[in-house]
Amino acid sequence: MSETVDFDGLKQKLPVAAFFEQVMGLKAKAMHSDSIRFSGCPACGLGPPESVRTSVKTTGGKTRWHCFRCEEGGDVIDAAAFYWQLEVPEAARRLAGGLPSMGSTIRKWHIRATEAKSKETPRDEAALREVFAHIRGSKLPPDGRVMEYLAGRGITADVAKEAIKRGVLATLPGNPARAKEWLFDVVGHELLVKSGMLRPDSKVPAICYRPLACFTHNARSAEFRLIRKPQSAEEVKLLFYGPMFPYFWANEGSNDYTIVEGPIDLLSSIVLGTKKNVIGVPGAGRWRPEWFKNLSGKSVLLAVDGDEAGQRAVHKANGLLKVMTDVGANVSVLTYPEPFTSVTPEEDWDVNGFLQWKLSQLQQQQRNSSCGEPSTR
Ligand SMILES: [Zn+2]
Repeated sequence: MSETVDFDGLKQKLPVAAFFEQVMGLKAKAMHSDSIRFSGCPACGLGPPESVRTSVKTTGGKTRWHCFRCEEGGDVIDAAAFYWQLEVPEAARRLAGGLPSMGSTIRKWHIRATEAKSKETPRDEAALREVFAHIRGSKLPPDGRVMEYLAGRGITADVAKEAIKRGVLATLPGNPARAKEWLFDVVGHELLVKSGMLRPDSKVPAICYRPLACFTHNARSAEFRLIRKPQSAEEVKLLFYGPMFPYFWANEGSNDYTIVEGPIDLLSSIVLGTKKNVIGVPGAGRWRPEWFKNLSGKSVLLAVDGDEAGQRAVHKANGLLKVMTDVGANVSVLTYPEPFTSVTPEEDWDVNGFLQWKLSQLQQQQRNSSCGEPSTR
């Protein structure tokens, strides 16, 4: 085919959001002032309708999509290439044929440019670290509701307490009013604002509702997590403060490493009894090669999510596997056993999903064996 396609013209004519709506059949959620969100991604598939997977936003006159799950993204042609599994020129040609309702009902998206946001006071990293130090040094006992949430995900009290001792984990009071009181008493209004954790026009820091705090190596950054399911698509499950950095759990005397996604999977692998050092990358596609430069000659197990997005992040051209091979690590990739994957939805093919499956197997065995025992009157 020698037909030429006007790429720029195409991008102008076809809003990214229209592709998500009309081709992928998704409903737009207008969430923040500067972006719209969808429950599906052209690269890694569709999530439940109430979930949020991708964001579409306009910066400097260009509209792009980004997937929070697989970290892919791009313009409308990239979306088409992923979705139709075509090479970019082919995808562009197919797009040039038009969307179902081209020229009639394509919605006009009024997305405020992000420039407005950048006028906010930049976060003060030193202040942020000071807040983290207060939270990690809290004299309060581990919060019962947070511990209950962790137990529900299979994280034992022993591992949670050890994580608190190591400064990997901390809990705020599970009651938001008490969390607020504690933050204002101990950290103080000024430092909360300075650190960017309290907007000057707001009364309550958003972390009050997210009392499970997990800290990256040397507490350079932290995530704060809800201890229940989000109540709506608008509710943000976790907030992240500080630079992108890995979570880390050292196992004394071990020269081997496991790489997992995020702090819950890190704690889950400790509960599962790993004797290796565990590195928790923020996501299968969210890491920097320089984090791994000391892994030369070490044995490294990649235990990131087993779903398509996780595996693509491992195997793609500049993925985790390539980076590990390049630093000279002796790398292997974890495969989840079939008895687990056959009964588990793909989105739970991760270390925590595996832990929860193991625990349910154990419970089942106990139930079976106690049924078989003679009953006593
Ligand atoms: Zn995706």
